[in-house]
Amino acid sequence: MWDNIGEKIKGFAKFSAWIGIIISIIGGIALIGFSAEMRRGGELYFSLGIVTIIFGPLISWISAWFMYGYGELIEKTNAIEKNTRSGISANVMTGNISSPNDWICNKCKSANRETALFCNNCGEKKLEDVNVL
Ligand SMILES: [Zn+2]
Repeated sequence: MWDNIGEKIKGFAKFSAWIGIIISIIGGIALIGFSAEMRRGGELYFSLGIVTIIFGPLISWISAWFMYGYGELIEKTNAIEKNTRSGISANVMTGNISSPNDWICNKCKSANRETALFCNNCGEKKLEDVNVL
């Protein structure tokens, strides 16, 4: 029920945009219909109807972007979290990484102890810009 919230938000954004567009168009047509039956002040309702038909869908659409974008943000963040976790846990399971300051050799990709100044596999020097987990 609470899985893939990002995807749900994106779906709801699309759905609410369409609802907004449909309601705006129907409302605008209704206002224009009203104006035709009015003896006085019909022009006001007519222009109100036109404005609703033009700007209603536009506003519904644009506001849906933000909701859609938020959904996408959640989705991407979840994907990154999942990737990061599986990467770290794989190393923990194989016993390669035990401390968060352990480092990966740039040359051979072996995991090394935080205290090691050289790679225990290939002897490459630990670099300043080395990939610290
Ligand atoms: Zn190495």
